[in-house]
Amino acid sequence: MTESWEVALVTGASRGIGRATACELGRRGYAVAVNYLGDERGAAETVGRIVEEGGRAMAFRADVSSHDEARRLVDDVERSLGPIQALVLNAGITRDGLLVRMPEEDWDRVIDVNLKGVYNVLKWGSRSMVRRKSGRIVAVSSVVAMTGNVGQANYAASKAGIIGLVRASARELSRYGITVNVVAPGFIDTDMTGALPGEVRDRLMAAIPLRRMGTPEEVAKAIAFLLSPDASYITGEVLRVDGGMSIGALE
Ligand code: NAD
Repeated sequence: MTESWEVALVTGASRGIGRATACELGRRGYAVAVNYLGDERGAAETVGRIVEEGGRAMAFRADVSSHDEARRLVDDVERSLGPIQALVLNAGITRDGLLVRMPEEDWDRVIDVNLKGVYNVLKWGSRSMVRRKSGRIVAVSSVVAMTGNVGQANYAASKAGIIGLVRASARELSRYGITVNVVAPGFIDTDMTGALPGEVRDRLMAAIPLRRMGTPEEVAKAIAFLLSPDASYITGEVLRVDGGMSIGALE
């Protein structure tokens, strides 16, 4: 019966890393809540792939940057599928531009989706975990949080903020047996990076010791590991999945 399925909620799962993570968790036996914002077809495609492979999944529309919608999202998921055991805070956007020319709305929107969005879903999603004294949470940051990047002041600030937020919540939630960790991807082949100009892609590629972009599936497996019993003694950690990109220069 359905009650035996552990439930995972993945935000921003209509494509890219979120979709790959939802599919990986579906294969690992979770009932997966596929959150999306505008891309209903993408979310349906993610659900379809999970169901095709014998898994269980449902799509849930919500803007994670809204405190109220995030609460409704968590309530809807728990009412439809059961208590959330695994939470993947993946939804994110870029609005790149040099700091001196960055419009205030581009700063605000990136912080609202990437950082406040993690706060919103983490806050509402961890409540029933606290009651049940069990749960695993992974937030998706970026190596840019550690290295910075030209044209990404808003994005780097939001992703660095996630690391502080995760470390504080890991301390707060540890007494309930809940772990909270970060996965920090490098340069991953998704629609988000597909939008980058050719010379930016070339420059980024040259900085990767493994000499290739990562795949969404490679990030998904790192997330699934941190959600699994194999990671039971890991909390407040940042796992970089970047082909060595942020090892640092030799000089
Ligand atoms: P993507 O653009 O392909 O997917 C992002 C997903 O988030 C989409 O499904 C989108 O609809 C959803 N989303 C956006 N705003 C939302 C909102 N307000 N509410 C709910 N959902 C929303 O991007 P991706 O490359 O798959 O990236 C996924 C995550 O990984 C992001 O947080 C991104 O910052 C991070 N990341 C990506 C890379 C990379 O190289 N692709 C590198 C480091 C970190």
